Amino acid sequence: MPDQEQNQQYDVTVIGAGVVGASIARRLSAYQLRVALVEKEADVSFGTSKANSGIIHGGFHHEGSYLKTKLELQGNMMFDQLQRELHFPFKRCGILVAAMNEEELKAIQFLYHRGRENGSAGIELCSRERTLELEPKLSPDVVGGLYAPIGGIIEPYRFVFSLVESALRNGVELYRDFQVSRVERDGADDFYRIFDRQDRKILSRYVVNAAGLYADEVSQLFGAEEFQITPRKGEYYLLDRMTQACPSKVLFPVPNQVSKGMLVIPTVEGTVLVGPTAEEIRDKEDLSTSREKLDSIFDSARRMVPKVSTRDVITSFSGLRPVLEGDDFYIEVSKKAPRLIQAAGIQSPGLTAAPAIGEYVKDLLKKAGLPLQEKPDYQAEVPRVPRVRDRRPFDVDDLVRRNPAYGNIVCRCEEVSEAEIIEAIRRGHRTLDGIKFFTRSGMGRCQGGFCTAKIIEIIMRETGLPYHEISKRGKESRVFWRSL
Ligand SMILES: Cc1cc2nc3c(=O)[nH]c(=O)nc-3n(C[C@H](O)[C@H](O)[C@H](O)COP(=O)(O)OP(=O)(O)OC[C@H]3O[C@@H](n4cnc5c(N)ncnc54)[C@H](O)[C@@H]3O)c2cc1C
Repeated sequence: MPDQEQNQQYDVTVIGAGVVGASIARRLSAYQLRVALVEKEADVSFGTSKANSGIIHGGFHHEGSYLKTKLELQGNMMFDQLQRELHFPFKRCGILVAAMNEEELKAIQFLYHRGRENGSAGIELCSRERTLELEPKLSPDVVGGLYAPIGGIIEPYRFVFSLVESALRNGVELYRDFQVSRVERDGADDFYRIFDRQDRKILSRYVVNAAGLYADEVSQLFGAEEFQITPRKGEYYLLDRMTQACPSKVLFPVPNQVSKGMLVIPTVEGTVLVGPTAEEIRDKEDLSTSREKLDSIFDSARRMVPKVSTRDVITSFSGLRPVLEGDDFYIEVSKKAPRLIQAAGIQSPGLTAAPAIGEYVKDLLKKAGLPLQEKPDYQAEVPRVPRVRDRRPFDVDDLVRRNPAYGNIVCRCEEVSEAEIIEAIRRGHRTLDGIKFFTRSGMGRCQGGFCTAKIIEIIMRETGLPYHEISKRGKESRVFWRSL
C-alpha cells in the first residue's frame, strides 16, 4: 500500500457525528486503535442530535423486550459519571406523567407496572395531592400522576460536543464536511475505501453506520442490508426564561400509539420547550415549522400547564426522528457487508441510550474480530470551560483578571463573554450555529439580534476567514453572498 494511503488508514471509521456516532467514537478511543469519525456537515451534532427534547428518559414508555428499552435504562444510569468527566449541562430533575381523567389514570397504572418490570428505579404512582405537590404548575384538574425520579434533562448538542472533544483528545480523527458518497472494496485487501463528494478518501478495516436519517443510504453504499428510514417530524416552541409556566420536572401527558404526546419541558438553562408534534414526512431536510401546528401544540400543553402562553415564545424549530419499520433500534453486525456495524433507526430514546449504544457497538466490533487493547494513557476528562453566567460577581472579577476577554459580554441575553466565543472557535466551531450551540450566544430572548455581528467579527479576527466565508451552518448558508 502506498505511503499516502497508509496515512489515511483506520481500524474503525464511524460514519455520522451525532450523539450515537460520538458516543461510539469516544468509547473506542479508550483502546489502541486508529479511529476516524466522519461527518457530512460543517460541525458535529448538526443532525437530529441538535433538535430534540433533551430528555434523559425513565424507562417506562416502551416494553422491556425492545433493545431500545434496555439501552435506555443502561444509558440513563451512565449520565452522572459522564457529567463528572465531560461537564455538559445535565440535571436529574425527574419526569412526571399527568393523568387528566379516569381513563388516563388507568393508562398510567399500566405505565407504572411496565416501568417497574423494566427496572425504572424509584418509579411511583401518585395521588392527585402528591402529583400537585411534586409539580404545582400542573392544572388543578389533574387526577393523578406517574413519577420517575431517574428522568432528567441535558443540553443535547453540548453533550455531543463534549463526547467528540473527549474522543479527539484520545486520538480519534474528525473529518468534517465529509459526506460518504462512494465505497469500494477490493477483495484482495481488508480495507473499505471510503470517498466523499470531493473524492477525498479514507481507508478502514471496520465501519460503523451511525448516519441517522441517512443510514439507509449509507447501508446501500456498502452493499449491505436494504431498509428504509422515514423521517417523523417534531415541532417545538421555545419559551423565554421569564415565563410563568416553567415546571421543575419534565411533564408528559399520557402517550398515544405514535408519540409521547405534547410535553412541557424545563431546559437545563432555564427556558421551556413545548412540543413536539409527530408527523411522518418524506423530505429528510424539511425542518420547517408551521402556524397551524402552533395552536394545537399550545392547546394540548395548556391542558396540563394552564400558564403556558404563546406570548412567551422566542423561537420555534423542528427535529426529524429516523424511524425504521418495527420501531426498535437496529444495531447489529451486517450479514451482508463484512466488518460493518449497523446502528440505525435510532429514534427516541436515542439520546438517553447513546452511552449504552457506545458500549454495545464496542462489544459487537469485538465479536466481529476487532482486537481491543486498552490504552494506558486514556484520559476520560475534558477541561471545563468557565462561563460568566455560572459565576458569582466576585468570581467573574477573578476570571477577568486572568483573561480580560471575560469582561467583554458579547451576548447580553445569555451573558456570554468574548473569551467563551474565542474558546469555541479554538475548539473547532467556526460557524454561527456551532458557536451558538457551544456557548449559547444567540439563544436568548433577542435570538442573536444584538450579538451576531460581533460574533462574525470575532470569527474573522480569530480564524482569518474572509467575511464571505462566514456561514450559519456551513455549505450554502453563508451570511454574506457577494463582495461589497
Ligand atoms: C423531535 C425529537 C425529539 C426527541 N426527543 C428525545 C429525547 O427527549 N430523549 C431521547 O433520548 N431521544 C430523543 N430523540 C431521539 C434522539 O434525538 C435521536 O435518537 C438521536 O439524536 C439520534 O442520534 P444519531 O447520532 O443516530 O443521529 P444524528 O444526530 O442525525 O447523527 C447522524 C449524523 O450522520 C451524518 N451523516 C448522514 N449521512 C452521512 C454521510 N453520508 N456521510 C457522513 N455523515 C453523514 C448526519 O449529518 C448526522 O450528523 C428525539 C428525536 C426527535 C426528532
